[in-house]
Amino acid sequence: MPNPLSIKAILQMASAQLHTAEAALEAQLLLQSALNVNRAWLIAHENEVLAADIHQTFKALFKRRLAGEPIAYILGYREFYGLHLQVTPNTLIPRPDTETLVDAALAKVLDSANLSVLDLGTGTGAIALAIAKHRPNANVVGLDASPAALNVAKNNAASLAISNVQFVLSDWFNALADERFDLIVSNPPYIEQNDAHLSQGDLRFEPISALASGADGLDDIRHIVEHCLIYLKPQAWLMLEHGYQQAAAVAALMAQVGLVDIQTCKDLAGNNRVTMAKNPLIVSSHWG
Ligand code: GLN
Repeated sequence: MPNPLSIKAILQMASAQLHTAEAALEAQLLLQSALNVNRAWLIAHENEVLAADIHQTFKALFKRRLAGEPIAYILGYREFYGLHLQVTPNTLIPRPDTETLVDAALAKVLDSANLSVLDLGTGTGAIALAIAKHRPNANVVGLDASPAALNVAKNNAASLAISNVQFVLSDWFNALADERFDLIVSNPPYIEQNDAHLSQGDLRFEPISALASGADGLDDIRHIVEHCLIYLKPQAWLMLEHGYQQAAAVAALMAQVGLVDIQTCKDLAGNNRVTMAKNPLIVSSHWG
């Protein structure tokens, strides 16, 4: 029988074996999950010996991470914009880059009015839920073509007790009738289908339908831009996340359909990440 090890020793061994950028943190998160405790508990008890059954549970989780599975799928959750979100292999893992999109959206959605917001390809519901949580007077609709992803989004809304959001099965705009929105946001798939990154790291485990979009990565963005005017109220904004080299192409597509006031925002790493533009139409209350 090997000597039972302390929590600290197990964490040290595990993080030395993981060749990931955040090895120490990941080892802690996996052990917290096996023990069902928070980080403070883990640190306070680091000199204690780990029970054999918990050690086995930890080893099973650790083996999955060693095989490359994303930490968010192993843990079953990811923090996004201060929200604790369930994630499954049916959903893209929310990324910090996408918080840039939420910031830009919140800057447009003032809470004084009952504005309507549409999130296309909502996945875990991350963007829709972050907007709904911070703008309780807004009505948010999240659409996704994947029933499995929609279930995750609905579970997230329920467990976060966010009620000003609805999730609806829809292939992009297909399920919408004649509704129009004050803001349309999306983090669509935008990676080139032959991009080598798709067969590396976490991306190997994520739904390809949430990542890749045709030869230039812009198929879905083209579709959204080409159809958005039917669903935007006068003066309403379309806001899209995109790849760091796609800002000019996205802006050109937006200009082509007649959207105006085109602007791009950078993410925290300083990359162009979100481009937005406005429906120029002005509602006129009277004629002549
Ligand atoms: N930003 C993600 C990545 O490059 C891609 C997400 C997406 O296609 N929307 O890993």
